Amino acid sequence: METIQFNELNIRPEIIKAVAHMGFEAMSPIQAKAIPVALEGKDIIGQAQTGTGKTAAFGIPVLQKVNPKLKKPQAIVLCPTRELAIQVADEIRKLAKYLPSVKILPIYGGQEISKQIRSLKAGVQVIIGTPGRIMDHMRRKTVKFDNIETVILDEADEMLDMGFREDIETILRDINEERQTMLFSATMPKPIMELARMYQKNPEIIRVVRKELTVPNITQYYYEVRPKNKGEVLSRLLDMYDPKLSVVFCNTKKGVDELVADLKGRGYFAEGLHGDMKQTMRDRVMNRFRSGKTDILVATDVAARGIDVDDVDAVFNYDLPQDEEYYVHRIGRTGRAGKSGMAFTFVVGKEVYKLRDIRRYCKAKIKAQPIPSLNDVTETRVEKIFDRLDQYIEGQDLDRYIDMVESFVNEKDYTAMDVAAAFLAEILKNVQGKEQASQDDFGDTGAEEGMVRLFINIGKKQGIRPGNILGAIAGESGIPGDLVGTIDMYDKYTFVEVPREVASDVLAAMKNVKIKGKSVNVEPANRK
Ligand code: AMP
Repeated sequence: METIQFNELNIRPEIIKAVAHMGFEAMSPIQAKAIPVALEGKDIIGQAQTGTGKTAAFGIPVLQKVNPKLKKPQAIVLCPTRELAIQVADEIRKLAKYLPSVKILPIYGGQEISKQIRSLKAGVQVIIGTPGRIMDHMRRKTVKFDNIETVILDEADEMLDMGFREDIETILRDINEERQTMLFSATMPKPIMELARMYQKNPEIIRVVRKELTVPNITQYYYEVRPKNKGEVLSRLLDMYDPKLSVVFCNTKKGVDELVADLKGRGYFAEGLHGDMKQTMRDRVMNRFRSGKTDILVATDVAARGIDVDDVDAVFNYDLPQDEEYYVHRIGRTGRAGKSGMAFTFVVGKEVYKLRDIRRYCKAKIKAQPIPSLNDVTETRVEKIFDRLDQYIEGQDLDRYIDMVESFVNEKDYTAMDVAAAFLAEILKNVQGKEQASQDDFGDTGAEEGMVRLFINIGKKQGIRPGNILGAIAGESGIPGDLVGTIDMYDKYTFVEVPREVASDVLAAMKNVKIKGKSVNVEPANRK
């Protein structure tokens, strides 16, 4: 798999900045193939599903070409449904975050037309709409195609299935022939190719070709989850299956950072690996993972390429991979060297279709599984405890303990069964108690990875400067000043970040301390 970084091509710095903000590490395979061709102005037929990054594959070239000063529609994206139109508009808006004068508007049936007319009048450069509603505006002459340079047919097969063919053709015939036309479709049936033949000029066909890949013998499960529950489901699976070493894959760098913070907050030993990290830092993370000091490695596809660890017990696709081949690469991190492995994949909403492609491509059995309930988690824990008991009963001399239990049973008039059940309850409480304790360990204070954000009830108005805060923390707690992170001062209070390892020492040291003669209160901050 060849990787192309977004800044390798001549793309507007504003777009590069937005892509970085979105946390994309490198182009997805369809982007790597389509963007360079699209930037040359050529017509494209792209075979790609939702979830492959196809929106940015056409969105970036569209934004590259748009003239922000010209307040007229310059690109039009046709979509089959209002949901898709909204989704595409959102994605392109994110890409245009640093191009404030480029206006993007979704227009679809069901929304008040007068509102759309007002927005169109205000000057919109990129229109994303359903064919029916766009035709409506054409008839009313509330949209003009004079300056349209790019047309995109998104999910073209769906649009044809929904009977939009005539509308699409009417729209295309009304737009300047000099335009660039890009057609994206998950499938390429005959009618699509006909449409391409009639309305495109020497289109380049772009699909991601792949080698046949064999999937090793790995137990593969998938879970249908809601985005906001992913963290919880992951932690239940980690508790249930208790893998020694796991690799968790996210699609973006931002996703990696957020998940690492979430897992740490839940008390797991997790670290992230992605392209923004310096090589020395990456080596350190890998060493800790190899030696088992870190149990969970959270990584992007690109960063994970160099991982050469043989005993990974489980791979989690926290985000569904953007490409079938990535799936195979990802899960190939486990089940190595003759060992067995497990792969867990999270699927949100429509991603099940992408999963279907992955299954077909890998000829893999990826079985649907219900999300484990807390009871399931407890049951598995109990099974594990029972497994461990075998060792005691078979291997150790328990006579001494049997005597103790016997006298307790006789003394209290209990049965041995009562006592065994009570022990089990006690052990479980202990395990859960430890988890709770580590969750209470400051939780998420909104700090950077590995840091805790503290709140201090004193600020600029009291004549305090960052140096005073730094001095007090370093002086009182004895930690080196350069370990103290960001200091954000407001009029009446201040936030300061300190490394997680020393946070409780700092809190203890700052009790009853005065800064510039004023008593202060320091406590862990709430999440931003
Ligand atoms: P799409 O196939 O356009 O529906 O995109 C699916 C998801 O992938 C969206 O959430 C995008 O923001 C995200 N995405 C697009 N390109 C990339 C990339 N190069 N790296 C990571 N995520 C991406």
